[in-house]
Amino acid sequence: MEAPYAKLEQLEPGIARVLAANPSAFTYTGTQTYLVGSSEVAVIDPGPDLPEHLEALIEAIGGRPVAAILCTHTHRDHSPAARPLAQATGAPIVGCEPLALETVGPRADAAFDGDYRADRVLADGEGVEVDGRRLIAVATPGHTSNHLCFADQPSGALFTGDHVMGWSTTVVFPPDGDMAAYMASLDKLQRRDDRIYFPAHGPPVTNPKQHVRGFIGHRKQRERQILALLKARARTIPEIVADAYPGLDPRLVTAAGGSVLAHLLDLEARGLVVCEGETWTRAN
Ligand SMILES: [Zn+2]
Repeated sequence: MEAPYAKLEQLEPGIARVLAANPSAFTYTGTQTYLVGSSEVAVIDPGPDLPEHLEALIEAIGGRPVAAILCTHTHRDHSPAARPLAQATGAPIVGCEPLALETVGPRADAAFDGDYRADRVLADGEGVEVDGRRLIAVATPGHTSNHLCFADQPSGALFTGDHVMGWSTTVVFPPDGDMAAYMASLDKLQRRDDRIYFPAHGPPVTNPKQHVRGFIGHRKQRERQILALLKARARTIPEIVADAYPGLDPRLVTAAGGSVLAHLLDLEARGLVVCEGETWTRAN
């Protein structure tokens, strides 16, 4: 894929990015690692542990002090480079908590970075100082249970990780992905006044409120569609996917099934659908 891999791109004063060479159906051109600050920097989403990406980050940092390495969540395309980068720079790993495994059944799968450890976990509203700016955690569970966005003050930028992206809607895959939490986290962003979003994948979002409103509408429409399909007759998840996502890229069928399951679990919790074996039907 044609993209500016391993290059430091300055986006605005004090905000730059380096794109990792891990393109896929889920990561678009790859993971974008952000550098915030000028004389001192913070690194947001160090990305996959690829030697050439790590090398590019160290070159981009250029010997400047690193105040913190922040992770939005612990998917393998976001956090694994945190440890080697911490070793190379001496910076602390700050941000999301390791994935909680103590709930019913294992929540993590192969997509998660099970080795992630934070030196400091940020609760909602807590932050770190870097070069006269402040990066503040905005808890946004849904895509994963541990997802954080980071608000940059005073620039008004929000680093949205995988919660809101410019190129695609996010994947919400149970059991760790949770549709009700995701919708609540979209509402939370809708109530904020961020100037611009810098997502981990895809271009910046320059119309945040309109963009988030579109995503909320998209999910509500999907929910109505699933309810309408189940009103017509009981269906399995693969049947719902086939009807709700015509012409879907075969690489995304599993993710679409996860997303439909996330909707169904939410609808079930609200008493609108019931599950019998593999089959879902409208509740009476
Ligand atoms: Zn992710």
